[in-house]
Amino acid sequence: MMTVGILGGGQLARMLALAGAPMGLRFMVLDPSADACAGQVAPLMVGEYGDESALAEFASQVDVVTFDFENVPARSAQWLAQRLPVFPNPQALALAQDRLLEKTLFRELGIEVPPFADIASRAQLEQAVAALGTPCILKTRRLGYDGKGQFRINAPQDLEAAWTALGPSVEKTGLILEGFVRFQREISVIAVRGRDGEFQTWPLTENWHVDGVLSASLSPVAVEGALAEQARLAAHKIAERLDYVGVFALELFCCDGRLLANEMAPRVHNSGHWTIEGAEASQFENHIRAVVGLPLGSTRARGQACMLNWLGALPDARGVLGQPGGHWHDYGKEPREGRKVGHATFRADTTLGLVDALHAAGEQLDRHAQVAPVIARLRG
Ligand code: ATP
Ligand code: MG
Ligand code: MG
Repeated sequence: MMTVGILGGGQLARMLALAGAPMGLRFMVLDPSADACAGQVAPLMVGEYGDESALAEFASQVDVVTFDFENVPARSAQWLAQRLPVFPNPQALALAQDRLLEKTLFRELGIEVPPFADIASRAQLEQAVAALGTPCILKTRRLGYDGKGQFRINAPQDLEAAWTALGPSVEKTGLILEGFVRFQREISVIAVRGRDGEFQTWPLTENWHVDGVLSASLSPVAVEGALAEQARLAAHKIAERLDYVGVFALELFCCDGRLLANEMAPRVHNSGHWTIEGAEASQFENHIRAVVGLPLGSTRARGQACMLNWLGALPDARGVLGQPGGHWHDYGKEPREGRKVGHATFRADTTLGLVDALHAAGEQLDRHAQVAPVIARLRG
């Protein structure tokens, strides 16, 4: 029996292991924390990603390696890849860890991106703010997630505060300045490429963020003109260039009839959680199929689905489970402010059915603000 090793033991690893079990696969998770939530559903090895003896012990127990955590040190991924199949490959992982490298690649592939500049000093920040104009966003190149490691510069006088906040990180993470995009919508493409090059995408997902953190996702959604095909093509070009194997997400801004690429995540993605109930094969199932070299499952949607994220603490499950097509996901994590502790997915065969379920859940859970933009979109 084959054992899949996962670096990182969060909810993504947990959902990967749950998706792989029916295919007869075993899992082993490596995480620095003894209470990593994937440990509740798969054997957990506690160790640092940069520790060679931990990696050696891990490598001796698994047949193939993949990631739940995208910021595993590139050296560790390379070390493992010299001994075992590792998917996605360490070069793809390293590129997707760095906002400057990924935006440079997107541009090279003809994928439009917001204006950006590499920032290595305060003087460069001043020049770049003058060139890009305000508002703009200073971000760490590496190690940012959920909107952390970002500072919005609304006017030139905010530059001082931005440098105070992020200047100290410049050595460790690098910095990038991005023009602020006044987008109408945020969408993502979840894509998967198999070991043999087979490529598929799920229908487009629209995403709503609150304070830089994903709050709700809806799929499938219609977008104007040729944008859906453009998004799919962009993901395909990236996958081919990186010789990517597994699932990744490409986050895009829809702005005045154009698509601008924000970032890619070299792993299964929060905006693809709806695929567990809302698609023929989920992102988790297909990621596992890809990394072990099995044929991919269909990415076709089953009706319409909306995912709501639970941050900090879980609401009452009955508000979700009491709705037709309501599904509950409790990651088994300790509640903590801002922490992703679970999500719900609502699936329905019709738009009207989904609106009704979301409306009822919004009432029962007192989550009007979270469901409102999704309902507004569904009502068109
Ligand atoms: P994630 O959790 O998706 O990995 P992250 O910390 O990597 O988040 P981004 O995706 O770059 O951060 O930014 C978080 C959110 O902030 C975006 O989804 C978007 O809503 C907003 N944002 C980021 N960059 C820009 C930009 N250049 N213009 C306008 N809004 C932006
Ligand atoms: Mg990110
Ligand atoms: Mg993002």
